[in-house]
Amino acid sequence: MGELRIRENKSRAFTTGLPQCLADSSVLAFNVVSGCLVDCHYCKYQTKDPTRADSVHLYTMLGQQVRDELASMSRRNCLPQMVLFNTVSESFFGNALANQVAGEVIEALFAAGVYVNLTTKGLMPRSVMEIASRSPHLITVTVNVASLSESFHRLFEPRVATPADRFLMIRRLREMGVPVRGRIEPLIPTENDSPKDIEALLARFRDVGVKDVVVAYLHYGVDVANRLARRVSRVQTALLGPWYRGPNGETVHLVDKEYRKRKYAEFKQIAQRYSMRLLVCACRNADIFSGRCFVMPAPIKAPEKKVLFKE
Ligand code: SF4
Repeated sequence: MGELRIRENKSRAFTTGLPQCLADSSVLAFNVVSGCLVDCHYCKYQTKDPTRADSVHLYTMLGQQVRDELASMSRRNCLPQMVLFNTVSESFFGNALANQVAGEVIEALFAAGVYVNLTTKGLMPRSVMEIASRSPHLITVTVNVASLSESFHRLFEPRVATPADRFLMIRRLREMGVPVRGRIEPLIPTENDSPKDIEALLARFRDVGVKDVVVAYLHYGVDVANRLARRVSRVQTALLGPWYRGPNGETVHLVDKEYRKRKYAEFKQIAQRYSMRLLVCACRNADIFSGRCFVMPAPIKAPEKKVLFKE
């Protein structure tokens, strides 16, 4: 497990590192920590610097910093329409201070009327769930569960909270009136993408009150391939490699297009049988789909200018 270093402020609380489908929108990204202690073996965000997981920075004054930055944006009429929370890291990794900072930031965003789109593989503490439940019209929580299989968990994401705990969290959030979506990512050929795997996951999501689920295959590429080769058994990576090989033997980012199309069609049929909606992440499948799989709030209206004098 890497070392957690405590800092006060970031140079800027928000960033513009967004998925392609949101690039031209009034949306900002936010992360409580730099780096990620969950450190999933397939994570493309942690490939830039292989030592990143050894020094994760937690910023304790982010609540105040976010309030200040939002106040300044409000004065300039440029509040974001939405903030994506946890874009390149996981806040809910079981640290009380990180939980507290996350709660303070969500409260600050709600106070400014900014919609929060929070994605997690972790466990939100009760205190943060209660904050979310006070403004359910301003938040969607997306909970990612890639597989129910213990071997998948051990092999690819050993520090992620167990599926049972995440489904329990979803149930509590739904009971508290918080909107929740599911996400199944990354799909990895032959590891977790059989119709049986998907059906089992969709059934669990439906049982805890989730109707919309977003799916996407693993985004591979040379950096992720090298990271997996370092961390996952060679036999496993040798089995995975051929799925991500182009016509000239080069490593490619995505599984074959026709394979993905066929699989997504299969998964959608299963979802229909469960009266659920299965959405495919267009950013991860730009060669097949376009559009957004995010819940988008109505744009924030600029305050009306007061008319001081009438003619
Ligand atoms: S929790 Fe998310 S950001 Fe953190 S390592 Fe896993 S995939 Fe990457």
